[in-house]
Amino acid sequence: MTQTYCVKCRTKTNSASEVFQTTEKGQNKLVGKCIVCGTNKHTFVSKDGKIKVKTLAEEAIFREKKEKSKKAKEIKALKLVKKILAEKHS
Ligand SMILES: [Zn+2]
Repeated sequence: MTQTYCVKCRTKTNSASEVFQTTEKGQNKLVGKCIVCGTNKHTFVSKDGKIKVKTLAEEAIFREKKEKSKKAKEIKALKLVKKILAEKHS
């Protein structure tokens, strides 16, 4: 049994009925149910069934992208608020 990440538990949990699948695109994945909450889990793995672990560099890029999109959303929300306020005053 492999411990895979559960989006609901937000941690790695054991899974029940673990199945190895290959997607149409040729990606390998491990499908199972979280034994804690029962959520379906999909984890992309390499051909030999090993879970792909992000390197520190990849993790940093991922975080940066996430942070950027978060900031973009905040700016968008701020603009919307300003627009609403402007409309109220006119
Ligand atoms: Zn879970």
